[in-house]
Amino acid sequence: MQPNDLPTPANRIVCPACGNDEDFYEIAENATLTTLYTQNKDGSFTPLEDNSQVFGEIKLICAQCQEDLSMFHQRFSEMLF
Ligand SMILES: [Zn+2]
Repeated sequence: MQPNDLPTPANRIVCPACGNDEDFYEIAENATLTTLYTQNKDGSFTPLEDNSQVFGEIKLICAQCQEDLSMFHQRFSEMLF
């Protein structure tokens, strides 16, 4: 199924400044990124576990106009799959 086949939910995040509803940056401040990898026989790596921890603020930013949309960040997190 293509994403376009889905009905448009009423709770889509829309930038109030420019109307962008497609592209957003998530910016984590003061984060420790820890990822466990296993090395395969051919020398390639496969990530096993992502233990990233964020100690600072996480911001949601409009990718079009850089408006701070952090008030939508909780909803954004709930809609991550
Ligand atoms: Zn915007």
